[in-house]
Amino acid sequence: MNDLTHNILLFGPCSAETREQVLATAKAIHSFAPQAIFRAGLWKPRTDPQAFAGVGEAGLAWLSEIQDTLGMQTSTEIATPQHIQQCIAAGIRHLWIGARTTANPIMMQTLADCLSQYTHEDITIYIKNPINPDIALWIGAIERVRQAGITQIVAVHRGFSTLYDTEWRNAPVWSIPIELKRRYPTLPLICDPSHIAGRTESVQTIAQEAMEIGYNGLMIECHAQPTKAWSDAQQQLTPTQLQQLLATLAVRKNNTPQDNTLLALRKQIDEIDDEIWQLIVRRLEVAQEIGEYKREKQMPILQSDRYKEILQKRLAWAEEHNIQADSVLKLMEVIHTESVKKQL
Ligand code: PEP
Ligand code: MN
Repeated sequence: MNDLTHNILLFGPCSAETREQVLATAKAIHSFAPQAIFRAGLWKPRTDPQAFAGVGEAGLAWLSEIQDTLGMQTSTEIATPQHIQQCIAAGIRHLWIGARTTANPIMMQTLADCLSQYTHEDITIYIKNPINPDIALWIGAIERVRQAGITQIVAVHRGFSTLYDTEWRNAPVWSIPIELKRRYPTLPLICDPSHIAGRTESVQTIAQEAMEIGYNGLMIECHAQPTKAWSDAQQQLTPTQLQQLLATLAVRKNNTPQDNTLLALRKQIDEIDDEIWQLIVRRLEVAQEIGEYKREKQMPILQSDRYKEILQKRLAWAEEHNIQADSVLKLMEVIHTESVKKQL
């Protein structure tokens, strides 16, 4: 395995299903990643009320058994104060807050209030990003837990629901976790490539990108028999696949702070360019619709008053943002010419 000694690693199935399933998976993971913390959801926040919602309290004993027999730490998702109490009582010290909970400030405060009773315990709270791409909600959740007196907090990037990005289950929007790291340089940030990728074969790509940016660890879903998993079957790795991923993951040893900064900025540029291009395509599509309308109404394509109005607005805007007027004119000309072509 690569040198991941300084990384926070959480591996295990999406959900705990049976005692045999969690024990077999934990044993396999422990054999090649002895420092990893085992993860398994007991209470699953499912979109579909008919879907498997987790084994609940019954799974606590299985996690305790893993800790006792393998000496492996375990973790699960907590969504209510009762979950916290039950986990603490069962000796589970690594608790994560899911994306749907992070997005709910009242629930976050309720959990933080409950956690404030356990600050004497050696617990670590992992806070996933909210489902929507809103850094303020993520920071708010982190602050609530911090203000409750919890000192060991880890941010987990699991991607966001967005309208535009369809390549991934949850769009990475790397600029958000990067900005979080810029504002909280000492807060460990780990990546959950499983829930970003949404499919087994792409987990490695996302994990590799995270390591290149300089994340502090990974949470990856791993199931002894992924195809038979009761939740997230399409994105889990077998223990062998996980071992292979870790062995081939390029971990940067001489990652200077400058390198990290440069990579982070380039990542942001790539994302901004993606957005610009998506918007240009949209603009051209709308232009085409306008073209159809004009044809129907027998209107000429070129409406010079309208173009003058657009240009004036952009020139005023350019001045305000200290961008050269002739650059704005050139750019608008290219975009406008393309739009006119669409209408022809
Ligand atoms: C999970 O980790 O299985 C999970 C439900 O994650 P998220 O909250 O990121 O959707
Ligand atoms: Mn899952």
